[in-house]
Amino acid sequence: HKSGEKYQFETEVNKLMKIIINSLYKTKEIFLRELISNASDAIDKIRFLSLTDKSALESNPDLKISIVADKEKKTLTIADTGVGMTKKHLKENLGTIAKSGTSEFLSSLENNKTADTSNLIGQFGVGFYSVFLVGDRVTVITKHNDDKQYIWESTSESDFSIIEDPRGNTLGRGTQIIIHLKDDELEFLETDRLSGLVKKYSEFINFPIYLWTTRTETEEVPIEEEEKPSDKAETENEEVEDVSDKEEAQKPKTKTITKTVADWELMNTNKPIWTRSPKSVNTSEYIDFYKSFARDSSEPITYSHFRAEGDIEFSAILFVPETPVENFLQTVVRNVKLFVRRVFIDEFHDFLPRYLGFIKGLVDADDLPLNVSRETLQHNSLYRAIRKKLIGKALQMINELANKDVEKYKKFYERYSAALKVGAIEDRPNSVKLLKLMRWDSSSGKNFTGLVEYVERMKKGQKQIFFITGESNEVVERSPFVEKLVAKGFEVLYFTDGLDEYLTGNIHTFEGHPLQNVAKPGVQYGDDDDESHKKHEEKYKPLTDYLAKELSEWIQTVRVSKQLTKSPCAVFSSEYGATGHMEKLMQAQSY
Ligand code: ADP
Ligand code: MG
Repeated sequence: HKSGEKYQFETEVNKLMKIIINSLYKTKEIFLRELISNASDAIDKIRFLSLTDKSALESNPDLKISIVADKEKKTLTIADTGVGMTKKHLKENLGTIAKSGTSEFLSSLENNKTADTSNLIGQFGVGFYSVFLVGDRVTVITKHNDDKQYIWESTSESDFSIIEDPRGNTLGRGTQIIIHLKDDELEFLETDRLSGLVKKYSEFINFPIYLWTTRTETEEVPIEEEEKPSDKAETENEEVEDVSDKEEAQKPKTKTITKTVADWELMNTNKPIWTRSPKSVNTSEYIDFYKSFARDSSEPITYSHFRAEGDIEFSAILFVPETPVENFLQTVVRNVKLFVRRVFIDEFHDFLPRYLGFIKGLVDADDLPLNVSRETLQHNSLYRAIRKKLIGKALQMINELANKDVEKYKKFYERYSAALKVGAIEDRPNSVKLLKLMRWDSSSGKNFTGLVEYVERMKKGQKQIFFITGESNEVVERSPFVEKLVAKGFEVLYFTDGLDEYLTGNIHTFEGHPLQNVAKPGVQYGDDDDESHKKHEEKYKPLTDYLAKELSEWIQTVRVSKQLTKSPCAVFSSEYGATGHMEKLMQAQSY
C-alpha cells in the first residue's frame, strides 16, 4: 500500500516501541494478550453503544474474536467485530500516545530497570505497539459505523500509512490486525503453541474467541469398488495406504487415509466467573481471574465473592492487591468495574470510600439502568444500597483475614494500616469495626495485638485503655510514664505509627472504654492508690506551689504524680495539649 498517505509516529511512540522491544524480548508472547484485550475492549464499546442505539450492531451482529495463522504467508491475524476505528481514530490511536501519564510511565521504565515491565506496560495500556515484538510489518484493516473501511500499515520504523480500502467494506464492522511475523518468530503459527497461548489469555474474556485450527487426522474407510487408489480426493493430503495382505488372495476392504481437517475451535468458555456460584470456583481460578482482570502479576492478598439478594440484587468480587496503588489515600482511583447484566459499563471510584480505594473489584448489578453514567450513578437510589453493602463486605473480608491468617494479615497491615486509621476517623458508622482491625505492640510483650484482646486482658477494676505515643518501641518502653503502670501490672499499648496521634485526637473511646494517653493527666488505676494519692498531694502542696511559681514561665502546673516509680520527675503534656511526640510530628511537617 505504498500509495497511502504517510504519517510520522509521535516521538513518544518511537521511544516506547524501543523500550518495549528492548525490555520484553523474553516475554514476546504478551503481544497476544494485548491484542485480545484490545479486541475485547472494542466489542465492549460497540455493545455499550448499542444500548442506546439498537441499529449500531446491525453492521455485524455476531460479537466475537477470531484468530487465524497462515503458514504460507507467515501471518497471524486477529479479527474482532468490535467498534472499529474511523480514519481519525486510526491516526490518533495507532500513531500517538494520547494517554495521560504515559510520559511518567516512560521515565519510570527508564529509571527502574528491575520493574516487571510487561506488567507495567499492560497497566498503562500501551499494548498495541507490542505487535512489533514479533512482527516486522503490521496491517490493520478496520471499519467503523461512521466511516469507510481503511487500511493502516507500518513496518515499525518511524512512519505508518493509511489508505481507504480499495475493496470497499468487507468487514461489516470491526478490526483485523494482520501481523507479518519476523522469520525467527514463526513458532506463533504452530497450532499447539498458539492455542495454548490463546487459551491462557482468553479465559476471562467475555466474548467467544475462535481459533482456526488445522489438525491431521487418520481414518479407516472402506474401499469402494470403483475407487482407484491413485484418485486424488478433495482433501488436501490424502494418502492411501495399501493394507492388503499379499498372502491372502482377498481384496483389501479398508484403507487408512490421513486428512487435514480445519475448523473454528472455541478457546474459552466465556461464562464470567462472577456469575458462577462461589462454591463452584476454586482459589486458583480466582487468582488467575484477578491477574487477568487487574493486570497484576502478583496474587491478591485476599478476596471476597458474593451475591446480594433481596431489595437489591448484584454479584461482586473484591480483591486486595499485594501492591497498593501509589498514594491511594490522596488520589481518586477508579477501582470498581461496573457491569449491568454482564454488559461492561465503566470503571467507577464511587462504589467504595476513598480509604478503601486500594481494593479492586467488580459489581454486576441486575437492576441498574444500562445507560447509567458516572454523572447519573450518584443520583440513583440503588447506588447507595450497593455501596453500603460493598463497604460492609470489604470490612468483613479484612476481618476474616485478620482472624484466619495472621501472617497474611501482617502483610496486609504493613500496606494498608493507614487506610484503616483514616477510615476510622472518616467513616464513623464503621469506626468500631475498623478499630477492631488495628494492631499494635504493647508493654506486655505481646506484639501485633488488637483492642479486643487488650480489653480481655484488662485488670480487674481497670476502665481505661492505656496507650503511649512515640517514635518507636525503644523510645516508649523507656518512658517514665509507662514505669508505674507496668510495675502495677497494667498493659500499655505502643502507638508508634504517626497516624496514631491523629487517630486518638479523633477517637476517644472503644466500646465504652476511654482511650487514655499515659503521657497526659487523667490516668486511673481503679484501686485504692487513688485514695492515698490525695494525701500525698496535700502533704507536698508547699513544694508543688513553690515549683509552680518558680517555673511559671515554662510550665502550666506542677502535680504530685502517681505514675512514676524510678524517675524523680517528668514533664507531662496538658490534657488537651499536644504530646511531645505530636509536637515533633508537627514540626517535621511544618504546620
Ligand atoms: P489501550 O488498550 O490501553 O487503550 P492500546 O495501545 O492497546 O492501549 O490501544 C490503543 C488504542 O487503539 C485503543 O485505546 C483503541 O482506541 C485503539 N484500538 C486498538 N485495538 C483496537 C481494536 N481491535 N478495535 C478498535 N480499536 C482499537
Ligand atoms: Mg490495550
